[in-house]
Amino acid sequence: MCYLKQNLNRLPEEYLMANMEEKVCPNHPEDTAVSRCASCFKPLCAQCIIKSNGDDFCSDQCATNFSQSKEHFAEVTKRDKARKLKARIKKIIFLIIIAIIGYFGYKYWSDNKESINKKLESKSKQIQKDLDKMSEDK
Ligand SMILES: [Zn+2]
Ligand SMILES: [Zn+2]
Repeated sequence: MCYLKQNLNRLPEEYLMANMEEKVCPNHPEDTAVSRCASCFKPLCAQCIIKSNGDDFCSDQCATNFSQSKEHFAEVTKRDKARKLKARIKKIIFLIIIAIIGYFGYKYWSDNKESINKKLESKSKQIQKDLDKMSEDK
């Protein structure tokens, strides 16, 4: 209990110290950081900030990396969107084909209902006859 209490009391202080350390510019330890590099998250003081497209960076390299990874991300998102769209179009085309087949199948059936029914009837009669014959043969 006592040990836990001691640790609990110590924790916030340590956390605060670490936080303070983080908020000091590594290039100017006497200055407090006012921002962070958007690419490598290094703390930055007002003197060290390099502005690029509205973001703060520690170096031109970080700004370039950041915009490149941003471009890459946009490219990947664009490709993903295109792929999803293609898949959706394929699905729609498939459904249209099914609908067309269904429509023409139905149309064919309703146009030739009489003859199809006749054919089926004669076929079933034929089968019945064959069955009768088979049972007679026994
Ligand atoms: Zn950086
Ligand atoms: Zn600095």
